Order: sequence, then C-alpha cells, then structure tokens
Amino acid sequence: MLNLFYHENYTSAISPHARFPRDRYRLVYEDVQSRLKEDPKLPISIQHALPATRKQLLMVHKESYVDAFLHGKMTDAEIRRIGFRPWTPEFVERTLTIAGGSIQALHCAMEGHRVAGNLAGGTHHAYADHGEGFCVFNDLALCARIAQREYGIRKIAIIDCDVHQGNGTATIFAGDPDVLTFSIHGEKNYPFRKEKSDFDIALPNGCDDDTYYAELKRSLPLALYPFEPELILFQAGCDPLHEDTLGKLSLSREGLDRRNQLVFQHVAYWNCPVVVFMGGGYADPIQASVVCHGDVFEEAASLQSSVSSGY
Ligand SMILES: [Zn+2]
Repeated sequence: MLNLFYHENYTSAISPHARFPRDRYRLVYEDVQSRLKEDPKLPISIQHALPATRKQLLMVHKESYVDAFLHGKMTDAEIRRIGFRPWTPEFVERTLTIAGGSIQALHCAMEGHRVAGNLAGGTHHAYADHGEGFCVFNDLALCARIAQREYGIRKIAIIDCDVHQGNGTATIFAGDPDVLTFSIHGEKNYPFRKEKSDFDIALPNGCDDDTYYAELKRSLPLALYPFEPELILFQAGCDPLHEDTLGKLSLSREGLDRRNQLVFQHVAYWNCPVVVFMGGGYADPIQASVVCHGDVFEEAASLQSSVSSGY
C-alpha cells in the first residue's frame, strides 16, 4: 500500500487573500480520492499528517531561525522573503505539519513500505538559516538527516525535478559527499542567483517534452551510477508544465508522466526506498497542475505494486 500523508491545514491555514494557490492541496487530495473511487484496487491509503518537532527541525536548521519562526519573532523582511503573509499561529502549525508529513512518509518508506509520499512539501528553497520562495523549513534535508541518524543510511540522492532550482537543498548539502543533490530546472527562472548542486541541469525557456526527457535520461545515470544511492528523495514538482504561470517551460501532462516513469525506473534499478514530495504547480486554472500531481502519486502507486511483487 502506498501511504500518502495529508492534513486539511495544508490549505486552510493559508490566508484566502494570499497570492499563493492555496486550494491546490485540497484539490490534489480530492483528485487522489476520486482516482481511488474510480479504481478501488489502486493501492493508495491517505494518512493523517502530524507536526514535526522543534528537535527535528534543529537537525537541519539554525536554532535562532527556528525559534524566531515558532515564536513570531521574524522581521517583516524575513516574512516577505518567504512569501506567505501574514504570520499566524495556524500558519506555524501548517508549516510543522507539512514537514511532519514528509518525515512520516520517510518512516513509512524505511519501515517496509518502500514508497511513500506527502501531498505537500518538497520545500527546497529553505536554507539552514532562512526561508524563501514559499518554503520555511527544508523537508528534503530533514528526511535525509533523519534517514542517516535513525536508519543508518549513508548515501541519499535528492532528485529535484521542480522547475525552480533547489537552491536551499544545494547549499545545505554543499561539500557533503553522502547526499547527492540533483536539480533539473529552468535556467531563466527563480532563483535568479543559482546555488551549486552536485548536478545542475539548466533548461532554456520553452523547453519541450523531448528535450526535457533526453536531458533527464542522459544526466540521471551520470549522477546516480557512481553514487549508488540507498534512498531516493524525489521532489516531483509539476511546474515544468506548459500551462504553469511560474514555469516558463513547455512540458505536456504526458511529458511529465514520462519524467515520473523515468525517475521511478531508476528507483526500481537501485531497489531502494523512495519518498515523493509534491513540489510546485501553479497553472491557471489550477486544475491542470492538480491532475499532474495526481499522476505522480498514481505512478508511485504502480511502483509500489511492483515493489510488493519484488520489483
Ligand atoms: Zn517550483
């Protein structure tokens, strides 16, 4: 069974006046539910996400930053950089729950399920000491550190396919030979000052399905084969989609699906656990992103089925 973690505060704790498409989380949850209704044999179970603890956050983040966020002591500039306003206790709870949902998914993947995911998260723009780009705490980094400390996993590959570079993740693991950071993203897009991942694949505006697929197919083995991952964290952002308002690339829904399949083929090859993080998706209307996120989780469920039968 593919366990996916979700909480209604993923949507409800964001102000309805925010520019951010807050309904996306609820709609993706409903999309997965309707797929389950259509195909009751789909091996997906949606679980209740629980908040991460301060102690867990400190495995990655600076104490002064964590406490400023938790206690509402951040400056206006710091809050603006993150992009969610206003700061509210409900928003703090949501932030903890999203990080917690990812950590629960990690535990699930490590404790026999092999594949699990969060219907949110992939907050790759968060650095150790600050947040930006709608990301407060870096759940990918938290999962990597917890996998190392609690499960004795050494080699972890973070495959970030969100259209925006995983700048926070790249910085947190810079110079760390045990965590591979791989980011395939739009060259002329946020963040405009890129950090250095172990592998950065920068794509031109308007990049189509075939170019994207060829680049991913060429570069993933170059990154993974010498590294030999024991755990893969997949940031499955759907903002490379043509209809995305913040994406600037031109992938179709089918193109994103081929991307997902390719990543999961690599997971199957390495026969290792994988955690799937939702990542960005900002199409207008939002439904175009929602179905693509649903596709990611349905594809993860079919990987899960092949895992149970021994890959
Ligand atoms: Zn993004």
